[in-house]
Amino acid sequence: MRRQVSLEEISDGKLYTAQDLVKADCRGCEGCSACCRGMGQSVLLDPLDVRMLERGTGKDFAGLLAAHIELCVADGIVLPCLKMAGDEEACTFLDGEGRCSVHAFRPGICRLFPLGRYYEESGFRYFLQTRECPKKDRSKIRVRKWLDIPDLEIYEEYILTWHRFLQVCERESKDLDGDSLRILQTYLLRTFYETPWLGEDFYSEFYARLAQVKERLGL
Ligand code: SF4
Ligand code: SF4
Repeated sequence: MRRQVSLEEISDGKLYTAQDLVKADCRGCEGCSACCRGMGQSVLLDPLDVRMLERGTGKDFAGLLAAHIELCVADGIVLPCLKMAGDEEACTFLDGEGRCSVHAFRPGICRLFPLGRYYEESGFRYFLQTRECPKKDRSKIRVRKWLDIPDLEIYEEYILTWHRFLQVCERESKDLDGDSLRILQTYLLRTFYETPWLGEDFYSEFYARLAQVKERLGL
């Protein structure tokens, strides 16, 4: 979901690559779960996020929808996001101690926090959100280490591809009437989320599905 704010308003004004050091290390987030509460529908899930949650929890997409995630409209496209529940609007994956019960397979946006992605013409870089995380004594850590994602270059390429694809879908969907838009939204949801990812090589399967969708939609 795009945010209509300037980088200077929400960050230290710098952009980081995966190799850079950044003051993001909350050292275990001891006693804090602020970024797991009150996030509204902002923790959007990409297809890999959902696949990892499915594998980690043993639930299929319908099972996740029943308890932990919900559907929202982001820039015209229906996407799943983490559900914030109860009076405290807490992520349903928070355990009784205020810790993430799916830490090993948490979504990409959770891995980033307090970093964010800043998309540019040629790719994206990372920025440090300065208003969101209350821990002030954060240490410096390499972005790559903070994210802790295997095959980071391949992952980054996938994130960029998915982002650009959603942008194209958003642009193309603007002129659609209500029924056509619903058909498109349902098709995307079914293709990238509801249909299980069965193979071990997620990225190959993702790019195959993407090519199929692009061909079918004439994108
Ligand atoms: S707000 Fe900062 S310290 Fe608190 S849980 Fe999130 S990343 Fe950790
Ligand atoms: S999945 Fe984990 S890290 Fe992400 S918001 Fe929920 S409890 Fe927090």
